[in-house]
Amino acid sequence: MNTAQAEKPKSWQPELLVGLFISNTPVKLKTNLSAVLINSANNHNIKVINKNTEIVISNVGNRIHVNGHSINCSEMEFRPRNEKELKDMQTQINGKMYRGGVKVIATSSGLSIINIVAVEEYLRGVVPGEMSPSYHEEALKAQAVAARTFALVNRKRHKDSGYDLCNTTHCQVYNGVEAEHRITNKIIDETFGEVLFYNNKLIQALFHTDSGGMTENVIDVWGVDYPYLRAVSEIEKETGAWTLRIPINDFSSKLAAAKHNVGTVKSIKITPLKIGKSTADRTASGRVKEINIQGTKGQTKITGTEMRSIFSLRSTLFEIKISGSEVIINGYGWGHGVGMSQNGAQNLAKHNYTYDKILSHYYKGTTLKRLY
Ligand SMILES: [Zn+2]
Repeated sequence: MNTAQAEKPKSWQPELLVGLFISNTPVKLKTNLSAVLINSANNHNIKVINKNTEIVISNVGNRIHVNGHSINCSEMEFRPRNEKELKDMQTQINGKMYRGGVKVIATSSGLSIINIVAVEEYLRGVVPGEMSPSYHEEALKAQAVAARTFALVNRKRHKDSGYDLCNTTHCQVYNGVEAEHRITNKIIDETFGEVLFYNNKLIQALFHTDSGGMTENVIDVWGVDYPYLRAVSEIEKETGAWTLRIPINDFSSKLAAAKHNVGTVKSIKITPLKIGKSTADRTASGRVKEINIQGTKGQTKITGTEMRSIFSLRSTLFEIKISGSEVIINGYGWGHGVGMSQNGAQNLAKHNYTYDKILSHYYKGTTLKRLY
């Protein structure tokens, strides 16, 4: 444990606006602290709400009503009276508990309900959903740093909707207080404010479940390049093995539905998989770049990413062959393969890697720094 950092006082931290849901019915709010309603347009306080007092917000012609009365605005914030108490505030939204306060926007599609939450408190509702609290503490710390960095670098991602991040897999799954776990809360505290930088900029701290033995160059997955998202080897190869068997007729018709109509598939050509060996049709890690498929009506070339989407494959790190009346796909890993492998991080932790070493293994050339 890094005692120098643990001894620093827990200070100011950034706020995030997390979009929760849009409601076409009134929404109930209740908080544990004395709160205030603020008109977002002019920052004026509208009224004080006592702690543990339920209020009902409704949308009347895109204007906000509180307990049935108009407050003459379409955007409001529900915050603690003492601004410093945001991290201690907990708000029940229709009975579900979230840390922090709430922003409400009345729109033509309903009331947009947005959680105003300090970053560290947000992470408590995110990290246990991304990695099981039963994992090694060093792997969990690496996950907390990756999730914190991801959240901060992607602030404003949903700015057109009036918030920073959504609460689904599109950004990071966030489930408020009910998702929290004692162990992940402790790990978040122990890495308070720590994020990853490359050339003094926050990094795109992407992660996935299992690399299968080697992570992937980001350019081979999304066609953009970040120097710190490069293919790296794992301690263990051929992890997360999976198999899919599909009758040739089903395989052929699914291909046809995806605009690769070659009739009944007769042959499938790709270099055999060797993890970490690139070829013309495989990437640096051995993931499928392109497969040649020959059928009764013609032939086609199909990318690994397209195959993954058509057949809902766990990864693009696979072998494929025809055997009798079936197509058999044998693969490894789970996810896009870019950045940190969560199962790989667990393996490294078991081999005495500390979280900073785990992070520098997956994010090459980056620096771990405390941002606040
Ligand atoms: Zn999102």
